[in-house]
Amino acid sequence: MKVFKFGGASVKDALGVKNLLSVINKVGHQDTLVVVSAMGKTTNALEKIIDDYFKEKDKTPEGIYELKEFHLKIIKDLFEKNSFEIEKRIHEIFDEITNFFNSNKSPIYSFVYDQVVSYGEILSTTIIHHFIKFSGIDNFWLDSRNCIKTDDYYRAANLNWELTQKNIKLQVEKDSLIITQGFIGSNSNNFTTTLGREGSDYSAAIFAYALNATSVTIWKDVPGVLNGDPRVFQNTQLLNQISYREAIELAFYGASVIHPKTLQPLQRKEIPLYVKSFENPTKTGTAVSKGKAIEPNIPCYIVKKNQVLLRLSSIDFSFIVEKNISYIFSLLHEYQMPVELIQNSAISFSVCVNNKYKRLEELVLVLRSKFNVKVIENVDLYTIRHFDKNASKFIHSFKKPILLEQRTQETAQFVI
Ligand code: ADP
Ligand code: ASP
Ligand code: MG
Repeated sequence: MKVFKFGGASVKDALGVKNLLSVINKVGHQDTLVVVSAMGKTTNALEKIIDDYFKEKDKTPEGIYELKEFHLKIIKDLFEKNSFEIEKRIHEIFDEITNFFNSNKSPIYSFVYDQVVSYGEILSTTIIHHFIKFSGIDNFWLDSRNCIKTDDYYRAANLNWELTQKNIKLQVEKDSLIITQGFIGSNSNNFTTTLGREGSDYSAAIFAYALNATSVTIWKDVPGVLNGDPRVFQNTQLLNQISYREAIELAFYGASVIHPKTLQPLQRKEIPLYVKSFENPTKTGTAVSKGKAIEPNIPCYIVKKNQVLLRLSSIDFSFIVEKNISYIFSLLHEYQMPVELIQNSAISFSVCVNNKYKRLEELVLVLRSKFNVKVIENVDLYTIRHFDKNASKFIHSFKKPILLEQRTQETAQFVI
């Protein structure tokens, strides 16, 4: 069996859905499991709806009407006069969301978040399943919540691998075309959970692992994995082949084209991952597999913007060693501050963090009771794999001071 994954960008409108059909027609859809994300920016829209619900619980969040219109418009474009049945289903799904809000008693944000945000994938896969059927191709809609079993850690649930594999093996019919959701699963009480934003790539890998799939293909709006995000860097080049290890490193440092959790399950069973363009499905794209580390062997650029650099030195002239470092890290953990880069010397400690949960001020206040703290906001962290002369030229072309620099044999990082 092979596994395909189509992300939000590929199914952002009716044309996208028609293109999905054309892609699977071109490359073949026998014995294929297709994992699909929510359409376009639906997940963001649902996040806003959830926030509004928490602000004013007895009012139906406005965004729901807009989101319903967005999906109904796609249906009108896809099915024209034959949309009655699917339209009815979409109305039912939106009624379920409204009923959930009306009857919910849980004050727990992340629980409510998962129950609601998961409807993005339910909507997209329902529409796509019906459309493929409407165009004459038999296919099955699989509820991935009956397969993907997780713990109760809402918004970033951890997989129960054993149970999930068992469910997938039992429920996925071979020799057929299956449409299922990325991103979502359920816990032991059958409440919906999610695997973290952008988690659909990971879902595809989970299905592939359980099914011993021959390959996974993720269909993107780019020709494959490039040596930099084309929205940020100019003259990017396609990487034809990279090893699992290289892909893990790139994803870990922030190349958002592949979700970092996707690769290890695939590596374990040596299932090749192809990253291809949904606009040019017959082009080869990038193969992530066993073999050459990287071809062509060129530097790869990743940037994380708007990070914060903290420079700490001790107030009492003590050295910054194990005890201090462990205290600093416990605070970074407590204040949910993802650490991107660290560097220490005898009397100073620098750390580049991502102020994702906006808790920087609180953290700095506590740190200042023990250390001198210098806070530099709005810094950019550049990571360059396979650093060479050209990469060096690139970094120095900014004409901005390099605040921190760190190099290993394969990776160079700069805070600018
Ligand atoms: P999906 O629709 O599957 O969610 P994403 O938008 O998450 O797709 O991922 C595709 C985007 O990833 C591209 O449009 C591109 O801007 C970005 N990207 C970041 N780094 C890279 C890279 N190294 N190579 C290709 N694309 C990249
Ligand atoms: N729809 C989810 C998100 O936007 C999952 C995904 O697209 O991978 O984060
Ligand atoms: Mg995405």
